[in-house]
Amino acid sequence: MASQEEREAFVTLATNDTYSLGCLVLGSSLRRAGTTRQLAVMVTPGVSQSLRDQLSRVFNLVYDVDLLDSQDPTNLQLLGRPDLNVTFTKFHCWRLTQYDKAVFLDADTLVLQNVDELFNREELSAAPDAGWPDCFNSGVFVFKPSEQTYNAILQFALDQGSFDGGDQGLLNMFFRQWATEDISRHLPFIYNVVSQAFYSYLPAFKQFKNNVKIVHFIGATKPWHQPFNTSSGEVTPLPDSGHNAEFLQLWWTIFMEDVQQTLDPNLMSMLTT
Ligand code: UDP
Ligand code: MN
Repeated sequence: MASQEEREAFVTLATNDTYSLGCLVLGSSLRRAGTTRQLAVMVTPGVSQSLRDQLSRVFNLVYDVDLLDSQDPTNLQLLGRPDLNVTFTKFHCWRLTQYDKAVFLDADTLVLQNVDELFNREELSAAPDAGWPDCFNSGVFVFKPSEQTYNAILQFALDQGSFDGGDQGLLNMFFRQWATEDISRHLPFIYNVVSQAFYSYLPAFKQFKNNVKIVHFIGATKPWHQPFNTSSGEVTPLPDSGHNAEFLQLWWTIFMEDVQQTLDPNLMSMLTT
């Protein structure tokens, strides 16, 4: 019989090798923060064997998710909706029913302090989105794996679609009571600090920066896209990235210390200057 801690997991997702780099740094950051819970990563066929091997050194579970599972009639319907494919992939986390409770973290998040207390929260707990705080940001959320919930979300996706074309719009409609019903399901912002938010409220960032537990590098340019100089050991943020330089540097420090030694040299040379 697995212990309670073995039945709780942090879960992330990668559909390709570059997002896998994000998962590796995230996994290391969770280990550095001293988590006692399991680490699981969902991967699609787009992730190479070399990255899968590397992921299995950090994660307790590397879980294959097949986008095109023709055994499942709902999946067959989804074949006609390519727009929902990546969305659909994230929802696979509800099928990890070997866990009683789990915390989903985007591959572009970084854990700065232990966040195991999140397992005291109930489904669906998440932090407000900085762009529209009556919506939660779906980069960090507490959930309860359940095949039934998975099917209900999938059916909802087919019936309603997503107002923003992604998982966040869909999950906010599926868990629409989040905005008003139960404040205990609102995670403090420090559990999902979007790394550009400071520019709209810099004094608050200065005041509360040391409380930040999870940083989220949302947007088109991710930490692994920012030029990193291997001789100086410094990252130069792209002019329009908007990401906080200190958080980017932290991501790269973990990457250089924990990930790059065992990385395929070709992939490494693509990333650095
Ligand atoms: N993702 C992925 N491959 C993709 C796009 C997204 O694996 O091509 C996963 C990954 O875990 C990522 C999450 O889906 O963190 C959500 O996408 P992203 O973080 O890019 O969205 P944002 O947070 O910028 O809105
Ligand atoms: Mn993200």
